[in-house]
Amino acid sequence: MKIAILGGGFTGLTAAYYLAKKGHKVTIFEKEKVLGGLAVGFKSKGWDWYLERAYHHLLDSEDDILNFAKEIDFEEIFFKNTSTASLYETGPQHPSQSDYRIFPVDSPQDFLKLPLLSLPEKLRAGAVIAFLKTSPFLSFYEKQTARQFLEKTMGKRVWEVLWQELFRKKFGKYAENILATFIWARIKKRAKQLGYIKGGFQTFIDYVEEKVKGKGVSVKKEYTVLNITKKRGAFEVLFLPSSHPEFISGSDSKRQMLNQVQHDIHEKEEYDVVISTLPTVIMGKITKDIFSPSYLDRFTRLAYLHAVVLILETKEPILKDTYWLNICTPKIPIMLVAQHTNFIDKKYYGGNNLSYFAWYVDRDNPLLKMTPKQVFNYALPYIKKVTSYELQVVNYYHFIGPFAQPIFDKDFVKNKPDFITPVKNFFIANLDMTYPYDRGTNYAVKLGKEVSEFI
Ligand SMILES: Cc1cc2nc3c(=O)[nH]c(=O)nc-3n(C[C@H](O)[C@H](O)[C@H](O)COP(=O)(O)OP(=O)(O)OC[C@H]3O[C@@H](n4cnc5c(N)ncnc54)[C@H](O)[C@@H]3O)c2cc1C
Repeated sequence: MKIAILGGGFTGLTAAYYLAKKGHKVTIFEKEKVLGGLAVGFKSKGWDWYLERAYHHLLDSEDDILNFAKEIDFEEIFFKNTSTASLYETGPQHPSQSDYRIFPVDSPQDFLKLPLLSLPEKLRAGAVIAFLKTSPFLSFYEKQTARQFLEKTMGKRVWEVLWQELFRKKFGKYAENILATFIWARIKKRAKQLGYIKGGFQTFIDYVEEKVKGKGVSVKKEYTVLNITKKRGAFEVLFLPSSHPEFISGSDSKRQMLNQVQHDIHEKEEYDVVISTLPTVIMGKITKDIFSPSYLDRFTRLAYLHAVVLILETKEPILKDTYWLNICTPKIPIMLVAQHTNFIDKKYYGGNNLSYFAWYVDRDNPLLKMTPKQVFNYALPYIKKVTSYELQVVNYYHFIGPFAQPIFDKDFVKNKPDFITPVKNFFIANLDMTYPYDRGTNYAVKLGKEVSEFI
């Protein structure tokens, strides 16, 4: 069969691999210059390894991606211990000290030492965490919000001290609606050892790209799919080079106009099967001619946040030896710091330190409209509060990950997409379908493999 895969991230690449292996004729359409989607990497001057535009690591329980790597003889994944900590506002212990303190949160012993909670509170919270770690998925988690569950089981104060700010930073105005399944999945999957890829995730992506091309997959990079129609049993995929000047400057309405009026500038190809790995919102826009309004309407009830990431390349690190720092105070409006070079040796990046700062934001958040320099200037005073080092910034990088964080609330569970759609031979496999687990490359690989099994 002739199959079009929309999107060249991990899901699309894995689906392409398994479908080509079965003998199908597969084409991947990817709007960007480089494959990889949300896991894409880049190299700056003097770097030997790629760096992901958004912080990435693997967990040792993530068998789907590890097995896929084994199957295609990719042997560059390694695991190592890392350290996680949380920053809290404690008020200065001494007049010369900062208002904030960083506490390690790697082990039960660290947790017991946390001075912000009483011993009974810590023991109760610890018992709930131990329960969640061993509990299977229970439909009961879906019947309440994380806040309700955590307040009930760990106590109101533990919710306020430990969780409230983490949820607010990750889910913004939706924080109180997130289902308890999220906290179950998070704790279930938590690992001390984190995995990374020699050369960066992009090395793996490039390897898979070569592998699928070797199996005859055609990879159309820098082509944006604009519309899908169905004619005489076949799908017609309409696409345009992403570099097209009209397209680059185009707003949504302009794109719509291009769709309707300038059919002659589109390229078109026919396929028997289409698999969309695009964000559901984008998929909905390009499939109006094949799906009924009532089918697409359910997706309008799904909510998403966009990821904004700032990367600093500095002479000194931001954090001494912590890899992952949760920022648990509203006074520092940054969700987290991931000091990549406390995880991966800075020698691969020209000897400089690399750290990520991240936000998940709604579409009307001013951060989304800021230039990279404006984001840098906005974040700098807060970054100075987090670090005790003299900041010597060599360079900075900025990235927006559209629709990167689905909101796992009650509406999500009722309306999320499924592999099978009402239109025969049109399938969906995208990051909305990793629920109850938060999205990740492991689940993208799993979805890519699973969708290939329908064909
Ligand atoms: C801030 C952040 C941190 C993360 N951290 C981790 C982590 O630590 N570990 C981990 O495993 N995962 C992590 N992830 C998640 C991981 O990156 C994703 O789950 C995974 O990459 C999703 O792959 P995908 O192929 O399903 O989707 P995507 O990667 O989103 O792929 C979809 C592709 O479709 C393309 N596309 C969109 N519209 C069109 C169009 N009209 N025409 C053609 N192509 C189009 C896009 O360019 C993209 O390449 C993180 C994500 C973010 C945002």
